[in-house]
Amino acid sequence: MTVRRISSFDGASTADDLLSLSAAKLAEIVLQHLKSYEGTHTVMQNGMVHRRYFIGMVEGRNMGLGISNTKPEYGTKQPAVSEALEEAWNWLVSQGMLMRAIDQPDEWYKITRAGETYLKAFNLSKPGQDGSLGASHPAPFSPLGRDADFCRLAVDEARKSISEDDGKPMVGAVVARGGSLLATAHRGETPNNHAEYIALELKLPEAVLAGASVYTTLEPCSKRNPPKMPCAERLVQRKVRSVFIGMLDPNPDIQGHGVRLLRDANIEVQFFPHELMKEIEELNRNFTRKFRDAPRSAVTSFPAIRAISPDEQKIADILKFKGKPITVFNKQKYGHGYLEGTFDAVIADCDSLGVVLKTSGNELSFSLSQIEVSRDMERKTLKLTVYR
Ligand SMILES: [Zn+2]
Repeated sequence: MTVRRISSFDGASTADDLLSLSAAKLAEIVLQHLKSYEGTHTVMQNGMVHRRYFIGMVEGRNMGLGISNTKPEYGTKQPAVSEALEEAWNWLVSQGMLMRAIDQPDEWYKITRAGETYLKAFNLSKPGQDGSLGASHPAPFSPLGRDADFCRLAVDEARKSISEDDGKPMVGAVVARGGSLLATAHRGETPNNHAEYIALELKLPEAVLAGASVYTTLEPCSKRNPPKMPCAERLVQRKVRSVFIGMLDPNPDIQGHGVRLLRDANIEVQFFPHELMKEIEELNRNFTRKFRDAPRSAVTSFPAIRAISPDEQKIADILKFKGKPITVFNKQKYGHGYLEGTFDAVIADCDSLGVVLKTSGNELSFSLSQIEVSRDMERKTLKLTVYR
């Protein structure tokens, strides 16, 4: 039985690396690490894990438990790392992967069944490896966890966009499958090419992309001058499973058409987390302004996505409750079934992009295809069933 050092995990070899990880990613590492204590009767005893012992072990403090580092793994930066590890621990608790052990002192926790399933899924997804986490694991209990990381990465890519001439958008694209990063690209990385083209055709020309997700900060284009193929068509051709979009194209000739093209091909379209969408809009303010200030032609004044959307009724029903408290019934895919739970939220907004909900301290966005609208009869309010 060997306990793996935190620093032996991918992305955690130095304190700076570790501190740049998202809470979700670091939590994955912590969970794997905790599991590695199994049977050691140290941090883990009788199937329970102890938060202070865990931190103490990493810090190289003698906890009187036998196995220990002899000095802090991260040297002078250990205090910051310890704090991040505690945060990750709390994140695992919030995600239902760790829970307080019943009838035990405060610091004792148990890896829940959900946590064990998560670890098992990880081991199955990486046969023959030693448990190194890499960047390659789906995060079933945080639907936005891994996806949000890739969305973030796409925004970082967008910031690298090379200015070819004024008024061109900054665009970043990320391709991933099963939680593994396959490629990143930004507009102008090769001259005059769209980010999606660079990622798909220049970086992944041979890759099978069925089942892959593409995260692009701007709605994929639906028309280009021949012989160039529009990016949305290319995504369809490469049979990707889902596309995450950071903002719709402000050009009324394209806006919504890229989404429609993808959805018609049965590709799942979702949007970036709300805060990232704001960031991208800010990044492309000049690009957007160009269209906002230009008069719209009669032909394009009704974006096709609204005119033909079957979601109009849904939006109208939801908007009646804008600013009001509603009930959210959460159905999260788990194995062949669902984990279910109810929480309260306030409708912040809803349009063809989806619905934005406010919960205590958080904003959540869902695409219309993820939600079902009904009434909470008891509370005389709206009930949204969210499928994740
Ligand atoms: Zn394009």
